[in-house]
Amino acid sequence: MAIDRIIRVDMTTGDVTEERAPEAYALLGGRSLTSRMLLEETDARIHPLSEAAKLFIAPGLLAGTAVTTSGRTSFGFKSPLTGGTKEANVGGQLGHRLARLGIKAIVVSGASPDGWKRLDIDGKGVRLSGADDLAGRSNYDLHRELVGEALRTRAAATIGPAGEHRMSSASVAVTDPEGRPTRHAARGGPGAVMGAKGLKAIVVDDAEGVRTVPGENAKEFKGEVVKFSKMVLDDPRVHNTSRYGTAGVIKFVNRDNVLSMPTRNHREGSWEHADSISGQVIEELGKERGGKMLPCMAGCIIKCAILYNDEHGEHVTTALEFETIALLGSNLEIGPADAVAELDRLCDDIGLDTIEVGNAIGVAMEAGVLEWGDWEGTKRLLDEDVRGGTPLGRIIGGGTAHVAATYGIDRVPVVKGQGLPAWEPRTLKGMGITYSSSPQGADHTAGMVTARGATPDTLVKQSRQEQLTMMAVDSVGVCQFTNALPGDMAAFISERFGEPL
Ligand code: SF4
Repeated sequence: MAIDRIIRVDMTTGDVTEERAPEAYALLGGRSLTSRMLLEETDARIHPLSEAAKLFIAPGLLAGTAVTTSGRTSFGFKSPLTGGTKEANVGGQLGHRLARLGIKAIVVSGASPDGWKRLDIDGKGVRLSGADDLAGRSNYDLHRELVGEALRTRAAATIGPAGEHRMSSASVAVTDPEGRPTRHAARGGPGAVMGAKGLKAIVVDDAEGVRTVPGENAKEFKGEVVKFSKMVLDDPRVHNTSRYGTAGVIKFVNRDNVLSMPTRNHREGSWEHADSISGQVIEELGKERGGKMLPCMAGCIIKCAILYNDEHGEHVTTALEFETIALLGSNLEIGPADAVAELDRLCDDIGLDTIEVGNAIGVAMEAGVLEWGDWEGTKRLLDEDVRGGTPLGRIIGGGTAHVAATYGIDRVPVVKGQGLPAWEPRTLKGMGITYSSSPQGADHTAGMVTARGATPDTLVKQSRQEQLTMMAVDSVGVCQFTNALPGDMAAFISERFGEPL
């Protein structure tokens, strides 16, 4: 089946229309498609939260197929944080479901004049309807209701209270395979853009979806899938990711010769208590408490998502990642792992980018709003102030630079208005090149360059190459942890679209 439906939702009029994607978009998907449409359809001078702004949502070119990790979804928009073009790429169950319904992109424009709305998409059609009953509700509650028991066919993309408050650090939560809202299109504030449109939830059900690889190519395609899966599983880097998740890097980055574990508002690159929040400790706790490693979408064979339980074996959070642990943990001098896991749960529930909000609270601690290491205070700040939209909560939710400007702090860990990831640009200078040269600002997923000791010229070349590679990977829609190169994807694209590459 062709994946060529472009769904347009005008929130101002309530009109939902559909068109076939033009030929020029045939080999665009995920990030390449959302970026191209953003460029072609919006004026660069608009305010990101205005009625004139648009939100573009697109699965990658291989979504809906059996290629491992190929169900990622791109959210493209003008960012309220950076003021520039932004793409947030997310796993979860949304991408495959959209593709199986033949949907290449959803374009949300305008702004609802009369309350909150939800968008339902299934084999019968696309419907926009009132959703004031969902207003004020948080992500765990929402996904329980919107997805419920229909785990095998349904996925939701929702905003929590932070998105409703139009906070620049607001994310869009996407359902994971267990029905939880633990995957987030987080960076740059897509939740604020969705909130400004008045769109609380998108619910996609692919019960009537169809296969997406042409029948005549299915055998060859399957052969390539098996080959690619073997290549992924044979890669020693993947073994570590499968065992510890991204938290496996903590022991390494905390070393004196790496110094990429942000501590005390990025003042230090190493934290003396980092062991208490390391992947190895989390693995040991998991053995005692029924924790496990999960895929964030059906068909992922790497399974890097840590399911984290409390001491009673009750679920706390899933996808406790290095970036989250570093920004909400060492950067605030908060530990051990139990404490950070609870903060991650709160951020998922409220709908917040953990990197941005971890940086923002770090600056708030610098300003004396809270003491370093004040876990109870941080919980209160998130749960009461940010969730409730108090003036202090709005300052924090407005992002790192916003907090710094409010309190007159000159130690501001941002690039192009966006909070720094844990990957440290001062010791890993290639990361600094990516942050400063990419339109995405401080976003490690734009191009990881962690080599140390290379010449500036070499690092510039590596950063450029990585940024191009990530553009291709995000467009195909596979996960960066496959370590796939664009060439690895060529056979799939040829079989999938019948165009030799
Ligand atoms: S490797 Fe991790 S992030 Fe990537 S698709 Fe699998 S579970 Fe998701």
